[in-house]
Amino acid sequence: MITRSPAVLQRAPAREADTEPLTVTPAWQTQLARAIRDPRELCRRLRLDPAWVPGAEAGHALFEVRVPEAFLTRMRPGDPADPLLRQVLPLIDEAAPAPGYVADPLAEAEHTPQRGLIHKYAGRVLLIASPACAVNCRYCFRRHFPYAENSPSRAQWERTLDYLRDDASIREAILSGGDPLAASDRQLAWLVERLGAIPHLKRLRIHTRLPVVIPDRIDGALLDWLTATRLQTVVVLHINHANEIDDAVIAACQRLQRAGATLLNQSVLLRGVNDSVDALADLSERLFEAGVLPYYLHVLDPVAGAAHFDVPDDEARERVAGLREVLPGFLVPRLVREIPGEASKTPL
Ligand SMILES: *Cc1c(COP(=O)(O)O)cnc(C)c1O
Ligand code: SF4
Repeated sequence: MITRSPAVLQRAPAREADTEPLTVTPAWQTQLARAIRDPRELCRRLRLDPAWVPGAEAGHALFEVRVPEAFLTRMRPGDPADPLLRQVLPLIDEAAPAPGYVADPLAEAEHTPQRGLIHKYAGRVLLIASPACAVNCRYCFRRHFPYAENSPSRAQWERTLDYLRDDASIREAILSGGDPLAASDRQLAWLVERLGAIPHLKRLRIHTRLPVVIPDRIDGALLDWLTATRLQTVVVLHINHANEIDDAVIAACQRLQRAGATLLNQSVLLRGVNDSVDALADLSERLFEAGVLPYYLHVLDPVAGAAHFDVPDDEARERVAGLREVLPGFLVPRLVREIPGEASKTPL
């Protein structure tokens, strides 16, 4: 105090900023807990015509709405066609049955030797590290997934780890979900340490949308365990439109890269979201600005409630051919479909 000049003391009480509420962003856990879960609230916040509300409520009854604030702020208010909003706004179309659209299109129920573990492809195993997601995407192929039955306890994790230890052909553990980064860093640090202790494992892959919808998820506690592991890490993001990538997302990607992660992206080709060459080219360009390479462009899995997002295969191929004309090869994603029983994703 004695070192303060009288001038400072005089000015201090007059500073407006001291009396204004602080605009500190809450921790990711709080942002997640505060995500919008009410379809009316979603419509109201985006200033949609009330005519959208009944459809939103009907869809919500089938698969609940969930949209974090940080994702909402990237949408254009008053525009029901906004490409980010379309991914999360339930429509009355979801209630319409569509032939061929089923609850478990990938037949994952048949490939679950243990709770929370899916071993379909050689050398890599997918682990359901968290049943929850930070955002509920309407086209999600796991929208009917029985997560409650696939949310492992510690004892079940031990059995999953035994499964990995016993199979020396497994090189890569893929943390998936839900969204694996919805789990706590305490849990993830524990799991990743155990995985790192399995000698034949080389890679840790994380399939996540959290750095996109709540970029603050990439915080110090996460970077601690990510940096500590001996495993090579690959983070596969899920971004469908260039507008999803704002400065906060770019900064989160940079933090992941500094921690040594290779960044890839997978998208789903979605009617009304990214079904044009321009939208896909903008996405690839913007991904690369964020240090992310396009990996897969998935055609829609025929999950019940998502038929209105479908883009026919011929159109899908045309879009990718169009991309090849305007982008370098490394910015063109591989167009794939997942066919139950196949040994890998199937190129179209
Ligand atoms: C998609 C998927 C993978 C990963 O496949 P890659 O081609 O290696 O990206 C692994 N396991 C399951 C069950 C999958 O669905
Ligand atoms: S984040 Fe992924 S798993 Fe979760 S709802 Fe969206 S598409 Fe599905």
